[in-house]
Amino acid sequence: MGTAATQLVEKQSFDTLALHAGTVADPTTGALLTPIYQTTTYRQEAVGKDKGFTYSRSANPTVSALERRLAALEGADYCTCYATGLAATSVLAIALLRAGDHVVASQAVYGGTVRLFKQVLEPFGVTADFVDTADEAGLRNALNAKSTRLVFIETPANPTLRLTDIELTAKIAHDSGALLVVDNTLLTPALQRPFELQADVVLHSTTKFIEGHNATVGGALITRDPELHERFAFTRNAIGAIQSPFPAWLTLQGVKTVGLRMAQHSANAIRIAQFLEAHPRVTKLLYPGLESFPQFELARKQQTSGGALIAFEIEGGVDAGIHLMNSVQLCALAENLGSAETLITHPASMTHADVPASQRQAAGITDGLVRLSVGLEDPADVIRDLSCALAQTKGGE
Ligand code: PLP
Repeated sequence: MGTAATQLVEKQSFDTLALHAGTVADPTTGALLTPIYQTTTYRQEAVGKDKGFTYSRSANPTVSALERRLAALEGADYCTCYATGLAATSVLAIALLRAGDHVVASQAVYGGTVRLFKQVLEPFGVTADFVDTADEAGLRNALNAKSTRLVFIETPANPTLRLTDIELTAKIAHDSGALLVVDNTLLTPALQRPFELQADVVLHSTTKFIEGHNATVGGALITRDPELHERFAFTRNAIGAIQSPFPAWLTLQGVKTVGLRMAQHSANAIRIAQFLEAHPRVTKLLYPGLESFPQFELARKQQTSGGALIAFEIEGGVDAGIHLMNSVQLCALAENLGSAETLITHPASMTHADVPASQRQAAGITDGLVRLSVGLEDPADVIRDLSCALAQTKGGE
């Protein structure tokens, strides 16, 4: 039983929370939007008496408003926001791991996550194994082999879109005394609800669909556990990884439409995926919203639609794929995903260049793989662009 106010919030639907949760009208002017509290410090009433804010490395009212909104959207109680998604992953690791601890992570994850665990954390004595977390037996073996503290999954995984069963993985992790962290960046809580499937922590690169407009970088750690939250907040302050007020404010505006955007991204993506699947030059296509997707049943179980990302390969291999990415006009060749603009990426040379080639191959990140992050343009225009570029690659590679 909460207060009347919390009961009202509990009853509100996702789209209403996206607009209103966490907002506090400015007490002096009544301004409808949470202001940008661009301040380093806060005047204190007396020694030891403050209004909850002392220094903006520890907390800032604009950032706190975003944290309340993201927690509400994920159906959780606590959130801390960070300068980037990788700052969030770094705080997660520093807060929870010690020398000798072991992490099991999905084989196909964002390349920066691999670089952080392998190149930054291993020298401190933290080991990480990247395994196919969709393979139950392999996952159990990886957990039984060492004393695993964290299981870190990304589902769908960037860029192969391989899915991991969140509920099953939570059970396996908890049976071994490990925590389950879900990177929910690719779907957002609009399409996937990890806490309802027993995850302990949800991580976001808010840089992507949460803010949604290619305007900021940011990250978030969300949890229902007050102790975990305290450790994240302590570590964030100790190492100085908090988000700044302006990007937090932009994210507060962007996230208002996350439900609408994710529905439209998915509707556009399915049309583009169908076009690509039927195209004679496309040799492989992965999209979780199509029945041809190898884990379509799991997608239907834990996602409400396919999302914005499509992975595909074309005839002619690496050279043809590169030619295609160099030929598109409307789609932007760029190192991001999750924005209103359609982006096309070559994971092997861009987002996953720092992942060892052997791990890339094992995870299915082939050198010819093309990743498309479908935006909010009219899908007919994107299809025309891809169609022209595909025609140009014919014989051009
Ligand atoms: N998680 C996923 C799934 C990502 O795709 C990315 C970045 O591409 C990150 C985390 C890291 O986020 P950031 O770039 O905001 O540091």
